[in-house]
Amino acid sequence: MIWICATCAVETAVAPQPPSLCAICEDDRQWVPADGQIWTSVAELASSGTRIVTHEIEPGLLGLRAEPRVGIGQCGMVARTPSGTVLFDPPGYIDDAAVARVQAFGRPLAIAVSHPHMYGVMTQWAEALDVPIHVPRADEFWPRRRERIQWYDDSHVIAPGLTLYRVGGHFAGSAVLEWSLGAAGYGVLLAGDAIFPNPDHATVSFLRSYPNRLPLSGTVALRIADRVAALSFDRLYNNFGNVVLRNAKEVVYASARRHAEWCNGEHDDETW
Ligand SMILES: [Zn+2]
Repeated sequence: MIWICATCAVETAVAPQPPSLCAICEDDRQWVPADGQIWTSVAELASSGTRIVTHEIEPGLLGLRAEPRVGIGQCGMVARTPSGTVLFDPPGYIDDAAVARVQAFGRPLAIAVSHPHMYGVMTQWAEALDVPIHVPRADEFWPRRRERIQWYDDSHVIAPGLTLYRVGGHFAGSAVLEWSLGAAGYGVLLAGDAIFPNPDHATVSFLRSYPNRLPLSGTVALRIADRVAALSFDRLYNNFGNVVLRNAKEVVYASARRHAEWCNGEHDDETW
């Protein structure tokens, strides 16, 4: 049986009993419920009425969300090119209707993940779609079920217009997907948690932990902005569908400078 952590929705290896702990939730970037670790499974979630709802976020980009929410509750995204599609950050749930919807949207080429919190039930999706999963080697420690994983180092071209880049930060293997046909050809970056759009729609954040609110250094924020400066995008989505609609590259750089100023103490005079 494959178990799913109820808090992060990441699957385990096949085992008769679940592990005592979820290493992903025990890590300082996540959290374990006060009442202790809880495990579930696709079958248990199905019996309680869980399903995947889909909606087209923009032309060629399909969003997938588990309802009711499973785990962290990410919006998986399927990005389409003429060669085929990639499913980025798959949900922690899968059903036949969602698999059929993804197959009808375009020819599946691969699954890719932004970081371990977003692994969901990636190997079950990979088997259903008959595709590989691309994971940065820097995060080799984290996948609990490794069927179909193909490791890459700093970047990987899935197909023309679909390229993965490891940017680091939140996790050493944090990765983004450059989808160059998105935003009407101006380019889209699917950024996971590596670069997080804020509610003001004008800035982004760079954190080691989002639930526990721990920032990265200014040096790392600027390094991430530098790493994506060479990529082709004008719009940026995170793993929940939060978006910087346009001029995203400039927003990322200005936000990294602001982050560095605050983390380096340049505005300490405003705090007292
Ligand atoms: Zn967990």
